[in-house]
Amino acid sequence: MLVENNVALQRYNSFGIQARALRMVRLRSLDDVQALLKLPDMQPQQRDMAPHLVLGGGSNLVITGDIRSLVIKIDLAGRRLLDETPKGWLVEAGAGENWHDFVAWTLAQGWPGLENLALIPGSVGASPVQNIGAYGVELQDRFHSLDAIDLRTGEPFTLNAAQCGFGYRDSVFKHPPAGDKGLGLAGCALITAVRFWLPKPWKPVLGYLDLERKRAETGVDAPHAQQIFDWVCAIRRAKLPDPVVIGNAGSFFKNPTVSPEQCADIIARDPKVVHYPMPDGSIKLAAGWLIDACGWKGKSVGNAGVYEKQALVLVNRGGATGGEVMTLAKAIQTSVYERFGILLEPEPVVV
Ligand SMILES: Cc1cc2nc3c(=O)[nH]c(=O)nc-3n(C[C@H](O)[C@H](O)[C@H](O)COP(=O)(O)OP(=O)(O)OC[C@H]3O[C@@H](n4cnc5c(N)ncnc54)[C@H](O)[C@@H]3O)c2cc1C
Repeated sequence: MLVENNVALQRYNSFGIQARALRMVRLRSLDDVQALLKLPDMQPQQRDMAPHLVLGGGSNLVITGDIRSLVIKIDLAGRRLLDETPKGWLVEAGAGENWHDFVAWTLAQGWPGLENLALIPGSVGASPVQNIGAYGVELQDRFHSLDAIDLRTGEPFTLNAAQCGFGYRDSVFKHPPAGDKGLGLAGCALITAVRFWLPKPWKPVLGYLDLERKRAETGVDAPHAQQIFDWVCAIRRAKLPDPVVIGNAGSFFKNPTVSPEQCADIIARDPKVVHYPMPDGSIKLAAGWLIDACGWKGKSVGNAGVYEKQALVLVNRGGATGGEVMTLAKAIQTSVYERFGILLEPEPVVV
């Protein structure tokens, strides 16, 4: 297990925020996980004083200052087919595997199903944390189970989908143990491996408007999985800023859901509001539209700004601090609340 002191975190977070970790350990094997549990930092009395941070690819994080607690960087590798039946493929990946590379690898093996989730930055281990989703597919649609270690007790455990409590950009891993969702696991679980169930026969998911457009543009009516993967990559590259060039954490706010009555009230005042009916009868509003309607696109607070091409993405214009990002986020929340009566909920984890 590699232990480093005073580590610059800029290259470990996609916002490119400058901060330092007093101590960082890298976990490359399950033996490293056992060695981690024996460190003085992980003993109960120390843990209570300085909770640790489990770090994947850092693409869903806002770092607001130097991190004094132990940073646990997950580099657990490995991917394999566990089972194939007439009904599907069961595939497993180590938590430190790069998500996009894993998706590309499954397709190359001839196991389709994850193509709509291509090019989402970050690690396999973080994918259940916010139940990543894009282009009509959510992780929970392909999830089988995960292995994790309880950092409070050192005990390994396995969770199935129901036990993960998946919701829209949500799971038990985003809620504290004594929090609103009951048995939350935020800060307590280190996910070591995730398993995916990719069903046969494969069925394309093409309901999303951008994919429909690609189908119309290309004239390819029945695309195969690799074709959808390529379309998703092209759409994402055109829409979203590349974190290597402009620091960002993707969508900064969740799309809020409202009741049909609330939606009707907003439509009466703003007929152009972008909204989608949900299967449960609620209405999802496009957070990017609400932010744009409040005039935020292209605006800045210090070195943090709202991306010119997509108001849902906050960006680092160069040298932004986490404080500037959060001040901008709070100002956006206030103006959206004042105009529409809706409190936007941030998607990234703030540390
Ligand atoms: C350009 C861009 C586009 C994006 N597009 C999307 C999108 O389309 N859909 C979407 O859902 N998200 C999107 N995101 C957000 C992000 O990519 C995902 O949330 C991703 O899963 C984060 O992975 P990570 O490894 O970088 O996690 P990190 O940022 O390192 O961590 C995020 C959280 O997960 C926890 N965590 C990480 N690894 C583990 C582990 N092994 N065990 C326990 N906890 C862990 C961390 O402690 C933290 O709380 C986007 C981000 C960017 C920058």
